[in-house]
Amino acid sequence: MLCTLQEALQIALEKNQGLAAFNVYGFEDADPVVKAAEERQAPVVLMTNKAAVDHMGVGILAALLLRIARDSSTHVCIHLDHGTNVSVIREAIEEGYTSVMFDGSQLPFDQNVAITKEVVRMAHARGISVEAEIGAVGFSDPRIEFVARYSTAHEAQLFQKHTDVDALAVAIGTVHRMEEQGVALRFDLLREISHTVPVPLVIHGASGVTDGDLVRLIESGARKINLGTVLRIAFGTALRSQLSQHPKEYDRIKLFPACMQAVYEKALQKITLLHAIPDPVASNP
Ligand SMILES: [Zn+2]
Repeated sequence: MLCTLQEALQIALEKNQGLAAFNVYGFEDADPVVKAAEERQAPVVLMTNKAAVDHMGVGILAALLLRIARDSSTHVCIHLDHGTNVSVIREAIEEGYTSVMFDGSQLPFDQNVAITKEVVRMAHARGISVEAEIGAVGFSDPRIEFVARYSTAHEAQLFQKHTDVDALAVAIGTVHRMEEQGVALRFDLLREISHTVPVPLVIHGASGVTDGDLVRLIESGARKINLGTVLRIAFGTALRSQLSQHPKEYDRIKLFPACMQAVYEKALQKITLLHAIPDPVASNP
């Protein structure tokens, strides 16, 4: 069933679990991600980024993903990831997305606050959730011009107070599009921010985080975990293997099932990890 980000976060909070959010690009990854979430009876977020929007447009993505969400037995949120201008955010809201992110991480603090407030006003009027970013999570690709910097607890608190966002992305060392795992994380900073800011915290670029650290992120106060590259690698590796195993096959419908299975298995593994937090009551009798 379709839900907002706020509803999905609330379910994850009540169960003391992390909320998995995956960047998807079409039916072949959205469908197996939702099936993995159903298997774990977990809420899940399907996110579309600028690359997906440039490829097929918000309207087609919305129609596809909303139908998958509505047909699902679990809670599925449809989220616009990294909206850097208000017009694409407005379009996503009009097309039925249940959550939007405004990314003002490259703007001065006051401008980030001002535009985020405008987005919150527009989205909340329609019951849609809003995520924003404080500090700036960088990119592993040096061709992307971007200034990365850690968040601070003080600015996160100030930002949240001024904007009333439903979720806040913070920069504690992760990097977008990492193909290897093992990035160094500032758990101390995450804990400090989570004690200061009363909204659920979001970690972008979690594909570069080891499985052990993924569990530690939730223990240290993160709630929504964004994953993209791990699924793209799973899909692409399976596709490459299919093509070499079947050099004469040209029909993608026959090549895709193995790729979808690979995405399903990777999504299931990551969702399971985000549920692996020891119950504080059970572990502390
Ligand atoms: Zn991101």
